[in-house]
Amino acid sequence: MTRLAGKVALVTGGSRGIGASIARRLAAEGADVALTYARSPDKARETVAAIETLGRRALAVEADNADAAAVTAAVEATVEAFGRIDILVNNAGIARMGHVDELTLQDFDDTMAVNVRAAFVASKAAAARMVDGGRIVSIGSCLADRVPGPGFSVYSMSKAALVGMTKGLARDLGPRGITVNVVHPGPTDTDMNPASGPMADGQRSMMAVPRFGNPDDLAAMVAWLAGPEARGITGAGFAVDGGTNA
Ligand code: NDP
Repeated sequence: MTRLAGKVALVTGGSRGIGASIARRLAAEGADVALTYARSPDKARETVAAIETLGRRALAVEADNADAAAVTAAVEATVEAFGRIDILVNNAGIARMGHVDELTLQDFDDTMAVNVRAAFVASKAAAARMVDGGRIVSIGSCLADRVPGPGFSVYSMSKAALVGMTKGLARDLGPRGITVNVVHPGPTDTDMNPASGPMADGQRSMMAVPRFGNPDDLAAMVAWLAGPEARGITGAGFAVDGGTNA
């Protein structure tokens, strides 16, 4: 698979979980890949090694999404290392769950900084450097659209915000042939949401296909959106949620 040969991608939160799978998949399709991490340098190194094993160049950049300057610097480091940026994947995210009585202003601010502000900051920095025909894909959530129970107000808000950002950026960047889309995972087996966790059976009961997603399921969708066939698709959302919201 060489649909992305010659392309350069940056994946935020590429050390573990869905982001690591996306980084590996983009590399498998021919891209050189930079990834950011915050707390897992060892995992970031593992992802870099996996990409290099595929024969592609890789770079891990420490950049906490809560730090806007660090996120901008990660975009610049990508361009400096690989000479260009074609694909940005806004993947890094946190999930602060709790009833509205329990959630704090800090939970609100942290969530918005990591899940929303960083995606805007990275998109703005990447768009300034991106070649025409580039790609921006953000990772949302099925909880952006429907909220099946209590505890998700702040997290769902942050993921719904990505929908609005995606549509707005699609309008801004469309004249340059840059597409901007959002992919909404359902329950996906990662550290954030293990398939064997205490909440797993409840989530499975809401899925049309009652099987937790694999991070590779998301990576396949992102890779396709990053590729040439998807050039006419922008401002759109794609559920990869096993029918959770069907
Ligand atoms: P994980 O918690 O398994 O992995 C999170 C990744 O994001 C890690 O690479 C982590 O890096 C990085 N990260 C977390 N906080 C920061 C930060 N402040 N700055 C930079 N990087 C950060 O999550 P998933 O892989 O499950 O989730 C990936 C995305 O998918 C998230 O946006 C999440 O909201 C979304 N999602 C996941 C679902 C699921 O069921 N798993 C369902 C719906 C949406 P490090 O360890 O180095 O800090």
